[in-house]
Amino acid sequence: MKKTIYIDMDDVLCDFTKRRGEMLYKNPVMSYPQSQYGFYENLEPILGGINAMVYFLTDSSYDPYILTAPSVLNPLCYTEKRVWVEKYLGMEYVNRLIISPNKSLLKGDYLIDDCREGRGQEHFEGKLIHFGSDVFPDWQTTIKYFESKHT
Ligand SMILES: [Mg+2]
Repeated sequence: MKKTIYIDMDDVLCDFTKRRGEMLYKNPVMSYPQSQYGFYENLEPILGGINAMVYFLTDSSYDPYILTAPSVLNPLCYTEKRVWVEKYLGMEYVNRLIISPNKSLLKGDYLIDDCREGRGQEHFEGKLIHFGSDVFPDWQTTIKYFESKHT
């Protein structure tokens, strides 16, 4: 039985914090840079994230999906997230893209997310892999954890 694994986008696959910081530096009075057109489409990939997604897709132990919450202040984010996924991960992952404001509604074994709570992460039925924490600081460490699960 394959393990269903959900992977968050912002600050897990794409560098939300970096771009937000750059935009605030240029325009400090802008309260919500993430509400701007083009914000989500132009995020840089997080180091190792693309390779990790290839790993999850090619390893027969896993059934991976992208699970991201929308920025409701930016209606275009729904489209831009979809465009980003095709650009960096291809159509296979476009077909595995889920945009949900409540991540606890999805059934599965793992959720890799940089936030412990706020979008239903705290009620997710499987194991929360807290990306960016001391235990899972980056993709290298995170992939090692999953590789060790079946060796
Ligand atoms: Mg996130």
